[in-house]
Amino acid sequence: MEPVSTPPFPAPVYAARLHRAAALARETGLDAIVVGPGPDLQYLVGVEGDTIERLTALVITPQGAPTIVVPRMELAKVRSTAVGELGLTVADWVDGDDPYPLVAAAAGDVARVGVSDALPALHVVPLGQRLGVTLELATPVLRESRMIKDAAEIAELRRAGAAIDAVHHRVPEWLRAGRTEREVAADIAEAIVAEGHRTVEFVIVSSGAHGADPHHEVSDRVIEDGDIVVVDIGGAVPSGYNSDSTRTYVVGTPDPEAAERIAVLVRAQQAAVDAVRPGATAAEVDAAARDVLADAGLADAFLHRTGHGIGVSVHEEPYIAPGNDLVLRPGMAFSIEPGIYFPGAWGARIEDIVVVTETGGERLNLAPHALTSTSGA
Ligand code: ZN
Ligand code: ZN
Ligand code: ZN
Repeated sequence: MEPVSTPPFPAPVYAARLHRAAALARETGLDAIVVGPGPDLQYLVGVEGDTIERLTALVITPQGAPTIVVPRMELAKVRSTAVGELGLTVADWVDGDDPYPLVAAAAGDVARVGVSDALPALHVVPLGQRLGVTLELATPVLRESRMIKDAAEIAELRRAGAAIDAVHHRVPEWLRAGRTEREVAADIAEAIVAEGHRTVEFVIVSSGAHGADPHHEVSDRVIEDGDIVVVDIGGAVPSGYNSDSTRTYVVGTPDPEAAERIAVLVRAQQAAVDAVRPGATAAEVDAAARDVLADAGLADAFLHRTGHGIGVSVHEEPYIAPGNDLVLRPGMAFSIEPGIYFPGAWGARIEDIVVVTETGGERLNLAPHALTSTSGA
């Protein structure tokens, strides 16, 4: 696992999250939840890092204190997180030991066990054999907690939003005809860190026809005068919470028809932001953007869902998509990012993170939404 810094929140915050996970496990009828490294572990106890072949696992049961199973060589690192203050039972092991019996001992007598969705098959298969049960996904339980952000988490998302806005304000300095997408992206990446993130999670600079591919990232294409350029960027602030914001730029003067369509896109994005309130469904918010585009004859140009949840991971629940009847509640945080794509020609996307408040929605990204012109040469 990667090193961790000091926990972003005081220990009682993590204690409350663990308590809630245990209560949800009880309600769901799970006898234990096993959480491996990934966003769920980060959320529950502040321990970050990717999974490795050596097993680290948090074991939560409806009754009793959670146990963390951890390789002894990771112990100091894990103790430096909230784990050190939470009074968790620590079960450490060394190379040559079989760690799965430690999980079984912590779980106790079990019939139904859920695992976090980031726990790899490398551990799921031997663990299931050791426990003698068919493991289930604990995703519904863990999602329910993570989806509703508390005030401290929203403050971190707000901090991340301000940091990425500061980068967007500077994009016109770097976005010039004659430079490659990769050169512009390198300047942006440097600024993402300089403006308060600890990591760069992604930098998409899609110029000209590349903009028509929502998943294009960056290339050696030389940016030309008149290009429309999609810049979709994000990083994690020191607490681990993420930013994600897209603006569409034009180098010099845009084609008038493109400018008109982008103005419609800005209206569509605004309509979806305006639709955010407690009680609305995710599908209704998605439809608000989609309807504006459809009214302008652009329905077929919008190729993806309107948004995704965000927190300690960049993409998480709730997904703002057609058919998702999930009812929005205060504390949910997600992107609103409609786009329009014209294969072989150009594309555009506008993206803000929005938090559901008691009465509506709060936009966390405030950089200008309209097509922003950078000087042509
Ligand atoms: Zn994507
Ligand atoms: Zn994005
Ligand atoms: Zn996004």
